Amino acid sequence: MAILQDSDNSPPARRYVFGPVPSRRLGQSLGIDTIPLKTCNWNCVYCQLGRSEPLINQRQAYFPREAILAETRAALVEHKPGEIDWITFVGSGEPTLHSDIGWLIGEVKKLTETPVAVITNGSLLYRADVRAELARADAIMPTLDAGNPELYRKINRPWPELTYETLVEGLRAFRAEYAGKLWIEVMLMKGLNDSEEALRELARVMQSIGPDQVHLLLPTRPPVETWVQPADEEGVLRATAILGEIAEVLHPIDGSFDLSGFEDPVDGVVAIITRHPMRENQIRGALAAYMPAESIDDALARLLTSGRAQVVQRYGVRFWSAAPAHYPDSEQSQRTQPKV
Ligand code: SF4
Repeated sequence: MAILQDSDNSPPARRYVFGPVPSRRLGQSLGIDTIPLKTCNWNCVYCQLGRSEPLINQRQAYFPREAILAETRAALVEHKPGEIDWITFVGSGEPTLHSDIGWLIGEVKKLTETPVAVITNGSLLYRADVRAELARADAIMPTLDAGNPELYRKINRPWPELTYETLVEGLRAFRAEYAGKLWIEVMLMKGLNDSEEALRELARVMQSIGPDQVHLLLPTRPPVETWVQPADEEGVLRATAILGEIAEVLHPIDGSFDLSGFEDPVDGVVAIITRHPMRENQIRGALAAYMPAESIDDALARLLTSGRAQVVQRYGVRFWSAAPAHYPDSEQSQRTQPKV
């Protein structure tokens, strides 16, 4: 299979593969994004990718699988052993909506011994075909934020037919069949799912599934809804105590954002913020490895006026996200505001 290569020997433009980026759970993670922004059957209040407008629950080959695989192969050739800890299917929505995800996992595993993970909302695990496809990966990281149907609908705002019962049944069925690592993620939010009652309910459901680990996350990237707040220290302690010994609290880590697959490092920034909004200081740190310090302000100004990025303020921090993401409080005027 041909690997796309520009005639002037510059690195090929990447559309589907990004990073490696530092991951809270996976060290340096090479991301594979198989779907366009934003393709998701949930519309979580904490989503960092903006609102799901419209909700999409159609499985199909959104991008050609051969092109995704060719880019992955090229990215693996570019990096030395040890530079990538995990290869992760994650990105612009729900990765299991790509109908060839099972084929892609299998082909990537033929290319490398680096372990493969899938970060998924788990909504389609009730389907036997999706379970069989994901069973080829080394780790599956589904989401379970709520211990009852009402809270699930409030937090995850799913496609109407994706009920809480189908979610939990899918997780139980997958656990029964899957020999790899099942790490369930809980996004912990103040006043939503951090009370003793909500956590005890969640713990009961979690116990009936039997994951290998439970990862507690806090919304540290810009949540789509402005009113979403991370649980405070007391809430995190409560969650750790109630969810038991397998609960592990994961905090954001610092690490390097790799822009090397791009002729213009600003294009590399766009590729990352399309899937992972970044704090401005992270972007500055990443660009510093590729351009003189005095050029960074210009590069950011260029990016803001290019129409490819927007700035979202959360918790007093400037986050950069891709322009097409739907944030309720991000107007066109914000895209052209001067840096503060
Ligand atoms: S957080 Fe994940 S599951 Fe929830 S809306 Fe965003 S992409 Fe979809």
